[in-house]
Amino acid sequence: MKLNWLRVEQWNRYPDLLHGFLGRQGGKSVGPYAGLNVSYRVGDDAKIVSQNVCDMKLAVGIHDGRIITMNQVHGDHIVEVKETKIKEAGEADGMVTREKDAYLGVLTADCVPILFVAPEQRIAAAVHAGWRGTLAGIAAKTVGILRKQYGVATDGIEAALGPAIGACCYEVKEDVSRPLVEKWGKLAEIALESREAKTFLDLRSLNRAILERAGIPSQQILSVGPCTCCAANDFFSYRRERKKTGRQISFIGWAP
Ligand SMILES: [Zn+2]
Repeated sequence: MKLNWLRVEQWNRYPDLLHGFLGRQGGKSVGPYAGLNVSYRVGDDAKIVSQNVCDMKLAVGIHDGRIITMNQVHGDHIVEVKETKIKEAGEADGMVTREKDAYLGVLTADCVPILFVAPEQRIAAAVHAGWRGTLAGIAAKTVGILRKQYGVATDGIEAALGPAIGACCYEVKEDVSRPLVEKWGKLAEIALESREAKTFLDLRSLNRAILERAGIPSQQILSVGPCTCCAANDFFSYRRERKKTGRQISFIGWAP
């Protein structure tokens, strides 16, 4: 299987860390889901999705371990994954684990997949941040859990923001921009761009700013991959495809 598998170069120094942001290349889905759709919740044939997940796992080198996903609901609930033999962690938009051979998977098509690692403690976390999750501060909340519940110092956390819709394509109306500015103030203002009387949001840069404010050193916040809406051959995009499309997966976990 030929994958579009993006990795964080700086994380090559952790040989036991398995992670990646996958695009839509590879996989057997057809039509609007063409390629590597890994979501059972978008109307694709479940048998094909299952085959895609299976093939993809082997292609990235996960054999016995599970990729654990969530029923993502654009909220800010974060679950701690302690059981490695589950397939789904329930209704949530973020997961944290210190278990080995448990790979946390986030499904997206424009929203920001954020992968976290605390290399010293060998903890991994994965978050789904659309505008609602960003408004709720799910990225900062994850940092808070790593600090308080796992005792990780903020300078011991590294984060990577994966392929997501960019300010080039993500036009938003007041119903989105206003609450973001009310909540995040200047951080949101900087992430909003005005062009031809329209407003565009850079979700990744807003999440980066939120992570910086939460205390992660800026050089430890990486960004990987293009705008999902621009890169039609490589990524699913909810906005570009007008809702009917597949989901790509981003995953992270420590090998046993
Ligand atoms: Zn774009």
